[in-house]
Amino acid sequence: MAESAGTNWAGNYAYRASGIVHPASVEEIQSVVRRAANGGTRVRALGTRHCFNDIADTTGELIAMTALPPRFELDENARAVTVSGGTRYGDFAEQLDARGFALANLASLPHISVAGAIATATHGSGDRNQNLAAAVSGIEFVDGTGELRTLRRGDDGFEGAVVGIGALGLVTAVTLDVVPSFEVAQTVYTELDWPTVLENFDAITSASYSVSMFTGWVGGVQQVWLKRAVTEDSDESPETFFGAARATEKRHPLPGVDATACTDQFGVPGAWYDRLPHFKLAFTPSNGEEIQSEYLVPRERAVEAIQALLPLTERMVPVLQVTELRTIAADDLWLSTAYERDALGIHFTWKRDQAGVEAVLPAIEAALFPLGARPHWGKLFLDVDRVIPSLYPHFDDFKALAAQYDPKRVFRNAYLDRLLG
Ligand SMILES: Cc1cc2nc3c(=O)[nH]c(=O)nc-3n(C[C@H](O)[C@H](O)[C@H](O)COP(=O)(O)OP(=O)(O)OC[C@H]3O[C@@H](n4cnc5c(N)ncnc54)[C@H](O)[C@@H]3O)c2cc1C
Repeated sequence: MAESAGTNWAGNYAYRASGIVHPASVEEIQSVVRRAANGGTRVRALGTRHCFNDIADTTGELIAMTALPPRFELDENARAVTVSGGTRYGDFAEQLDARGFALANLASLPHISVAGAIATATHGSGDRNQNLAAAVSGIEFVDGTGELRTLRRGDDGFEGAVVGIGALGLVTAVTLDVVPSFEVAQTVYTELDWPTVLENFDAITSASYSVSMFTGWVGGVQQVWLKRAVTEDSDESPETFFGAARATEKRHPLPGVDATACTDQFGVPGAWYDRLPHFKLAFTPSNGEEIQSEYLVPRERAVEAIQALLPLTERMVPVLQVTELRTIAADDLWLSTAYERDALGIHFTWKRDQAGVEAVLPAIEAALFPLGARPHWGKLFLDVDRVIPSLYPHFDDFKALAAQYDPKRVFRNAYLDRLLG
């Protein structure tokens, strides 16, 4: 009997795939894809299961990309590292640091696979930091005919293929830009009221290399996490930040949750990989019992977007654990949520109450879509029709690219059918 495909990390989605396979080589992946293409069935890459919707599902077999042997090839002259697609960021970050290099940014957790993260335009924070896919300079993938393909920055279709939402192929290796290793010091400040946040929004988000604001929407922002690159001129963690007090106890983003799983705070410098994520690799990130949604609004409409959501506070609070506000710099990847525009990510960590969350999302989407919000591809959103053509100028080019690399629609699933038609 085929192995059950199980659920996503959060447990709010049970994969309907007929089974799951664990190929240990690129050749094995190619033969699984060829079998599907010839037999008229479907397959889909599975990374570390951290999405909150059906994006990773298939009616055929899931292919566990984490089973591929790890790769770590550092080209110091080119300032590039190649890793296998299923590798988690946390699995090679320390090794990279030991060789004197770093990634410019990371997401809130190091537990996600590189190929899974770039497929959905996963991002961290920082006015000048682009999303993680923007660091990609090359991908190697098995296309829908079983051929192994390589696309490098500058090649035709590269900008479409990187944030590929799993539609073009199974990414077996990714080459990432690296920068000289650096240290980061993280300090948490508590309690900024809404007028202070809204009046000083740009000054707050530009105050550090990476800034995250956590809010329950009532009253203001309860925590501001400043992640300062210690190479920056200022080497202080001032006692107050726009009137907010420096936290005297280690904080978890979720109110009342023990902070052991969080990366070190109190302004103590540490390696980039041990400060840029909010959570340590050895612990469960966030809560686990949760659902997430996120909408990326154009940066210049950030304050307007927050103001549009504030009247929904009473509806959001009963199902909300916390909202995180982060900024992301523009890039040129066709399906990036920051395509050609700086963005503010308005993220919701919800309670694991699917019906309750789905009941409040239409109001949130009605408030944010008119401002040009793009939903995070890997988190829960509802109104697919509003996601696409007008928001992504290259959407039709992406469809053509998907048809070129997957002519038999082997990687199609319900999610892609809804989006691409
Ligand atoms: C606790 C938590 C914290 C998070 N924090 C952040 C955050 O800080 N910022 C943010 O932007 N997002 C965040 N996310 C969302 C997460 O980064 C994305 O959902 C990401 O896509 C997860 O990667 P994965 O490997 O788990 O992907 P999966 O869920 O396994 O797969 C996602 C998609 O990628 C495709 N895929 C996976 N591997 C491959 C491959 N090798 N080749 C081709 N396609 C592939 C799958 O087919 C699927 O379509 C968070 C999620 C969780 C659970």
